[in-house]
Amino acid sequence: MMWGDKRYLSLNYELRKTFGTKVIKLSLDGGFTCPNRDGTIGNRGCIFCGEEGSGEFTSSRKLSIKDQIESQKRFLSKKWSEGKYISFFQNFTNTYSTVKDLNKKYSEAISQNGVVGLAIATRPDCLSEEVLKLLEEFNKKTFLWVELGLQTIHGETAKFIRRGYELDCYEKAIMELNKRNVKVVTHLIFGLPNETNKDMLDSVKYISNTNTWGVKFHNLYIQEGTDLYNYYIKNPFHILSIDEYISLVVDSIELLPQNMVVHRLTGDGKKELLVEPRWTLNKLKVLSSIDKELKQRNTYQGIYY
Ligand code: SF4
Repeated sequence: MMWGDKRYLSLNYELRKTFGTKVIKLSLDGGFTCPNRDGTIGNRGCIFCGEEGSGEFTSSRKLSIKDQIESQKRFLSKKWSEGKYISFFQNFTNTYSTVKDLNKKYSEAISQNGVVGLAIATRPDCLSEEVLKLLEEFNKKTFLWVELGLQTIHGETAKFIRRGYELDCYEKAIMELNKRNVKVVTHLIFGLPNETNKDMLDSVKYISNTNTWGVKFHNLYIQEGTDLYNYYIKNPFHILSIDEYISLVVDSIELLPQNMVVHRLTGDGKKELLVEPRWTLNKLKVLSSIDKELKQRNTYQGIYY
């Protein structure tokens, strides 16, 4: 099985098929916070989350959405001279505000030149009835997906990382979003302390049988300035090697249904803050090693679904 030159259904392939051209994501900061940081659910956030939240390359939150889009377009035009865009609200919890505020920001984000879609990263416990209704409306206006950070299906690990919600909350969220035809992308993290390969692959098997449209695999980052860093210094735990990670990702790809879109196979840590695993800084090597391993095994997405 091949999807273009890949042995898995990549987001790039899916978006090119849908829009007939390269589609580029613009990472935006909507100025939101997170209930897991502002005291509503917790004060310190998920154990791996830094002060700046979860966004990697978002623009300055001081700029308007329109200006962030313009600056991201300028920045990315060095790499992609043409294409269309998806506005991606990435940082913190992007449904955590009033419906009026969300409506204003999402509307601004989809009305800019060349923008053909909207992606919203959030928590499953931040999808009230009114927010779901708003998402349903935007789903009719544009190509929308909602990203949920599940990370693991295992309760003990979820407690350790201070995720702040139970698995049934994710299940309810995905059901409500599916009911409204809103596409969902689920995040999983590999390398969480005390999780075995079997635990991680059980999380993959679980999401393979939910109606998630897409998946993002991340490796656990230990970054300075996070509680995870302080924990790691006092209680060092096993960090996945590049070979272990690649083998795990390929095992996971084999377990996914063939129509599930693979949005990400490795993360982008902040170079200045990243303590472990340092090998992730060579993203191209990680991605090409995954392709190589798929080829060597003569395998592809869904072979063991
Ligand atoms: S839900 Fe996201 S933004 Fe909130 S604390 Fe966790 S990682 Fe950080």
